[in-house]
Amino acid sequence: ITTLKDRKVALFGLGGSGLATARALVSGGAEVTAWDDNPDSVAKASAEGIRTEDLHTIDWSQQALFVLSPGVPLTHPKPHWTVDLARAAGVDIVGDVELFVRERRAHARDCPFIAITGTNGKSTTTALIAHILKSAGYDTQLGGNIGTAVLTLDPPKAKRYYVVECSSYQIDLAPTLNPSAGILLNLTPDHLDRHGTMQHYADIKERLVAGSDVAIVGIDDSHSALIADRVERAGVKVVRISRRNVVASGIYAEGTRLIQAAGGAMLPFADLDGVQTLRGSHNAQNAAAAVAACLAVGVSADDIRAGLASFPGLKHRMQPVGQRGRVVFVNDSKATNADAAAPALSSYDRIYWIAGGLPKSGGITTLAPYFPRIAKAYLIGEAAAEFAATLGEAVPYEISGTLERAVVHAAADAERDEAAASVVMLSPACASFDQYKNFEVRGEAFVGHVAALDGIAMLIR
Ligand code: ADP
Repeated sequence: ITTLKDRKVALFGLGGSGLATARALVSGGAEVTAWDDNPDSVAKASAEGIRTEDLHTIDWSQQALFVLSPGVPLTHPKPHWTVDLARAAGVDIVGDVELFVRERRAHARDCPFIAITGTNGKSTTTALIAHILKSAGYDTQLGGNIGTAVLTLDPPKAKRYYVVECSSYQIDLAPTLNPSAGILLNLTPDHLDRHGTMQHYADIKERLVAGSDVAIVGIDDSHSALIADRVERAGVKVVRISRRNVVASGIYAEGTRLIQAAGGAMLPFADLDGVQTLRGSHNAQNAAAAVAACLAVGVSADDIRAGLASFPGLKHRMQPVGQRGRVVFVNDSKATNADAAAPALSSYDRIYWIAGGLPKSGGITTLAPYFPRIAKAYLIGEAAAEFAATLGEAVPYEISGTLERAVVHAAADAERDEAAASVVMLSPACASFDQYKNFEVRGEAFVGHVAALDGIAMLIR
């Protein structure tokens, strides 16, 4: 970051992205004073030469900017104490995405920048766009909320493409966010603990598309549909996305088919039938948004179609990992509650379902609409008895106990199934902590047990 050379900058929050931000500022010549409520984080930053001091005692009138880590409360439930100090001194409060945006504006306005937000599907859409760009040979940087902090990416320059997932916290801290293409996938009540009301949460998300050169908005929920209209009235070019309805101008999904609508014409753009990693109508929506974004930054239709077809999927999210005959093995370990398991269960017709772990309140009662798709359930972990009671007479089940036994039994049952296609899927609707360190370790264990099956063809690695 060179835009703050020789300026004084206060920074709070020295976790992963905060530390990366401090480093980027220091190496660009800013005079950074950093702090964290956690003494270990402070010690770590000091050890690598970053100046640390309690921000109660600095001279706020001298600070050009205050950089806050996403996740530190700006408003709700109440502002962090540093926010009060910065506001009292009239110092602007920003996050790392804002610093990136300013750097891009100063040095490389023409570097294409795609920003993605929404309640669900952000990571899938972000990864898909980056995959399409990379496969087509573009210099592509992928980061933000999805993993790599934006300031640890290679610096902005012409013809370098940025694909950045933005949480609402990051948007809130990026007052001049102006992507070449901004995507708002959907808006449903979530994270309200942090943002107070749905309206406030929606307002934050709206800012991302309102500041975009091209705004790509999923209009299947009422909040997003209103935002699309409002942003369009304000003069922004809007591309509408839907997985439920025909749109007059934009891209919509009809089953697995993506249709491009423009100037009264409806042209088939691509068919996701057969793309294992983009199954389900939620993924059709994600793919439609990715197509719109890639078109907006000048990628050719053929390159986009090729990228859609070769998308490897995200680890632990409805990821096809192996195949044996007509049976596909799917890792959806990320589904740590019933809501998260629902899209996976709705995406297949004949499921040998491995579920359980540490149960969340409400269990799997909301998944009843999908029970007819479940050929048999294999229940593991602490939730097994509770889930068995919910399945009752509706779905055949066994209490497998361990994941390994569940995989072996489900694979054997699926193999005997006469159906044209079926899946053995881990979509646990539970946290993993009773048996595993986290959902990633649980997913890796599933992949390991699948790989150990006789005659299996692995689809990954
Ligand atoms: P995020 O990064 O926003 O959490 P992910 O792409 O990681 O989203 O997907 C997380 C889960 O959200 C998926 O496993 C799926 O259950 C669900 N999901 C994905 N895309 C959508 C969508 N477009 N609409 C609704 N739910 C979705």
